[in-house]
Amino acid sequence: MDCVFCQIVAGKIPSQRVREDELVLAIRDIRPQAPTHVLVMPKAHLASLAEEVDERLAGRLLRVAAEVARMEKLEKGWRLIVNTGEHGGQEVAHLHLHVIGGRRLGRMLPQS
Ligand code: AMP
Repeated sequence: MDCVFCQIVAGKIPSQRVREDELVLAIRDIRPQAPTHVLVMPKAHLASLAEEVDERLAGRLLRVAAEVARMEKLEKGWRLIVNTGEHGGQEVAHLHLHVIGGRRLGRMLPQS
């Protein structure tokens, strides 16, 4: 098993666990880009969102992301990022959602 997030799920690499259920694990990012930076991932290995993702799992990932935002008291807002593939800037090939907040984030898309 050479996937770093699979090793985190298995407890072989230490992590700061924020929330966990039978399908999903949320941990703090080791290089946080904002006061809150949590990664929400499926426990079972899935390379990216480009794979066939079970609808129940996809829904659970989104729900856990929103729960993490509530737990972290991000009432003023937060951002969800899912880097996918090489051009998407994905470094770890195990699907994960970045929940980022706790400060005002710069715009990523041009304003219309
Ligand atoms: P991505 O570029 O979307 O694949 O993001 C991968 C993220 O995983 C980066 O923000 C890294 O800082 C984070 N990361 C890598 N290794 C670890 C680790 N052992 N524990 C927590 N976060 C990690």
